[in-house]
Amino acid sequence: MLNSVFEKKDHKMHHCPYCPYSHRRKYNTDLHIRKHTGEKPFHCDMCGRRFSDKSNLNKHAITHLIQSMNRVDT
Ligand SMILES: [Zn+2]
Ligand SMILES: [Zn+2]
Repeated sequence: MLNSVFEKKDHKMHHCPYCPYSHRRKYNTDLHIRKHTGEKPFHCDMCGRRFSDKSNLNKHAITHLIQSMNRVDT
């Protein structure tokens, strides 16, 4: 019974084709693979800066938000 549970877990793993890395979540594995490929698919609409990680882009986007909030438009 335990073995089948482990098998199920293993089946769900997403493996990196470049190294022994594997993760249950495809998203994490995709992010990891970009470390090999150097791909930066996330870019800022405001300034065009590119990010390999969506959370980094979100953090960066907040700085634009703060800037626009501080700006006094008349
Ligand atoms: Zn890898
Ligand atoms: Zn930006």
